[in-house]
Order: sequence, then structure tokens, then C-alpha cells
Amino acid sequence: MQRGTLETIVGAMFAGKTSELLKKILWVKHQQKKILVLKPIIDNRYSEKLISTHNNITHECYSIANWTDARKRFDFNTENLDTLFLDEVQFMKADETLENIDELLNSGINVVCAGLDQDSRGKPWETSSLLLGLADKITKIYGFCNICGQEATKTYRKNKGGERTQVGASDVYEPRCLKHWKPQ
Ligand SMILES: [Zn+2]
Repeated sequence: MQRGTLETIVGAMFAGKTSELLKKILWVKHQQKKILVLKPIIDNRYSEKLISTHNNITHECYSIANWTDARKRFDFNTENLDTLFLDEVQFMKADETLENIDELLNSGINVVCAGLDQDSRGKPWETSSLLLGLADKITKIYGFCNICGQEATKTYRKNKGGERTQVGASDVYEPRCLKHWKPQ
């Protein structure tokens, strides 16, 4: 059995990670492949059952509490799954995610994951970092700075403090270039 391919998509908030993931979902589906889309339960934006972009393209997506939950609900084998898609990987626990993805890859399943590479303080998210390290293919995407329109690699938090894992939309965060970003 040939090992599956791991692709990791990273970028700042509003760079278009989920759109990129959806593009790949549609492409793999078009080849009549069996797919499954999962995301951690912490992300309750918009809808529990759909993965959606800010411009309303959607696909069926299941929220999981952790990998034990995922293993209980889904049978991960090449008979019924060609490619597993994971969104918001920064909110998944690092050690069990790495372990499970490595096992899926070894069993011949392809994995495509998307997530934030850094938080609004500029610190790398552990799970995303490790998945970048393990990846066969990396796609880094860039947003546009809300101040000057230049390429944005950072997520800027408009209000100070709060939880690191705060899930927010454009009222809390926006993409910024290095000139217009500061950690907070
Ligand atoms: Zn700027």
C-alpha cells in the first residue's frame, strides 16, 4: 500500500484557506473519489453541518470533539475513503492529530488540512506547525492588508486581550501587512 499524501494549507485569517480547501474538495469529488470533511467542534460559525466560505460556497462537513469521537463515528479505511479534509486544524490537539493523520497516511488515505499558521500575537499554532513539518505539499496563502492593500501575512486583533482560541469574524480580526500589524 502506497502511503497517502499530506497537503497542508496555511495562512492568516481571511486569506481564503477555506475557499482553497473547498476548491480541492470539488476537484477530488469531480474525480469520483470518496471524501470526508471534518472540523473541530469549537468552530461553530455559520453552520454545524456545512463548511462555508465567506462568499457562501458550501460543502457537507462534520464537527468532531476529538479523534476518539471521530474514530467512533467514522470508519477510516480506503474502501470508503480516498481523501480526508480537515479544516481549522489549529484547534485540534497536536499530539493525537499528528498520530492519527500519520496512521491514515500509512493506510493509504490522502489528507488535506487547512488552518491558521499563527495567532494574532504572531505565535505559531502548534498543530499547524507540525502538520507543515509532516506535509508532502504546502500551500501558503496570503490576504490583503485592510489598511494599505499590500500582501498580508498576519492576523490583526482589533481589540486587546481575550482568549487565544477566540473564534471571530471580521468584527474582531482582520488581515494586515507587517507595517500595519502589531501583536495583541
Ligand atoms: Zn498594510
